[in-house]
Amino acid sequence: MSQMSFSTLGLQPALLESLSSLGYETMTPIQAQSLPPILAGQDVIGQGRTGSGKTAAFGLGLLNRLNAERFQVQALVLCPTRELADQVAREIRRLARATANVKVLTLCGGTPIGPQIGSLEHGAHIIVGTPGRIEDHLRKRTLDLGRLETLVLDEADRMFDMGFESALEAVFGSVPGKRQNLLFSATFPDAIQAVAERHMHNPVRVQVEESHDDSSIRQHFIRLPDEQQRMTALRLLLLQLRPASAVVFCNTKRDTRDLADELCRHGFDALALHGDLDQKERDQTLVRFANQSASILVATDVAARGLDIDALDAVFNYHIARDSDAHTHRIGRTGRAGEQGNAYTLYTGKESHKVVRLEAELDLSIEPESLPPSERLEERAYKAPMVTLQIDGGRKQKVRPGDVLGALTGDNGIAGNQVGRIDIAENWAYVAVAREAAKPALQKLRDGKLKGRSFRVRAI
Ligand code: AMP
Repeated sequence: MSQMSFSTLGLQPALLESLSSLGYETMTPIQAQSLPPILAGQDVIGQGRTGSGKTAAFGLGLLNRLNAERFQVQALVLCPTRELADQVAREIRRLARATANVKVLTLCGGTPIGPQIGSLEHGAHIIVGTPGRIEDHLRKRTLDLGRLETLVLDEADRMFDMGFESALEAVFGSVPGKRQNLLFSATFPDAIQAVAERHMHNPVRVQVEESHDDSSIRQHFIRLPDEQQRMTALRLLLLQLRPASAVVFCNTKRDTRDLADELCRHGFDALALHGDLDQKERDQTLVRFANQSASILVATDVAARGLDIDALDAVFNYHIARDSDAHTHRIGRTGRAGEQGNAYTLYTGKESHKVVRLEAELDLSIEPESLPPSERLEERAYKAPMVTLQIDGGRKQKVRPGDVLGALTGDNGIAGNQVGRIDIAENWAYVAVAREAAKPALQKLRDGKLKGRSFRVRAI
């Protein structure tokens, strides 16, 4: 449809060029509705989940306004978590790829503040960060928002859930009164309505209808005869569906650990994601899941916030979510970008009342389904296709993806198509290699040199 094309919006030519190089041909519904008011400079409140294309909606808005020759912070995007901030910064950089000299900087907690201060001294046009760390920089006066043009709150409801309210107020107190505000949120509790009323100027509300019939997520509800069957039911479903990437939700930290251990004992490649992991463990877990060297991530709701892995084949509610909002958040992680996703919810008779409540609150009609035949339990668990190798050298040691790829595939190396994602962290690099090539790849990295020196390498 022609009215859904980006070319009707009057965007700067460089942005149209980026869009076409990214293959974004038509606008998603949230883009079609929010971009006209965003580009007209109005405040906008958008209701949209991850996967709706909301990042490009606000990203195009702030980039279209940006004057790259003015070397000051002109846009700030606040996100609830570092993973989401990284994701948003990546998307903005992609959209800005045809625009000269746009500097996007992420400022998040969980990493040392010193290097961030150094980067700020070099200047930036767009900052993407988490509220707590932005507040720290404001307090230290290492970040000046006095010339801000656009303020974006992404996943505002989650920022409130995570207790960032006072940090957000500190940000509102440090930005010019005349600015554009864009707020995106999946839900609109009172706290967010209040922020909108206090800090936004005649916002236009954009809501994308999400009808249940043509939803890209198929929900399956499985009633268990008793509590003892929970683990068996999950194994049966995994053996039948063999998802390359799936998240299993539990309600407690302890359950995530126990369940991941149990799945590993049964031969699956499962990892637990919970709040007790330190930053390095969390990064490693997310890297291994994203690069397909672990196929199952067992997580709590809190730990999974901000998790943004495209193409989850399935979500499993090992325990039913506490309320319908949490349920919607969980299942929204599958079925992205036009793909059909599947969500499986396990419950016992004792929990039927929770299912009845979901049915009413989400306007679903639930038909309990039966489990795959139990003979399947005889089958061997499937393994993830990749293995992660950790190299003890990263950005600080100037290790780049090309170096790793070169070292792996050089003479007598493994084939290029056996190398998967390469992630470079501060002091480490992670590379995914095909499981069958793991041994030679490890040998190759150990024997060879990267940047002219040897680094310790191991499979994790
Ligand atoms: P988001 O909801 O912002 O996380 O975006 C979901 C995914 O859709 C991202 O991978 C974007 O790169 C992609 N995307 C956003 N807008 C478009 C578009 N108009 N056409 C195709 N892909 C898009």
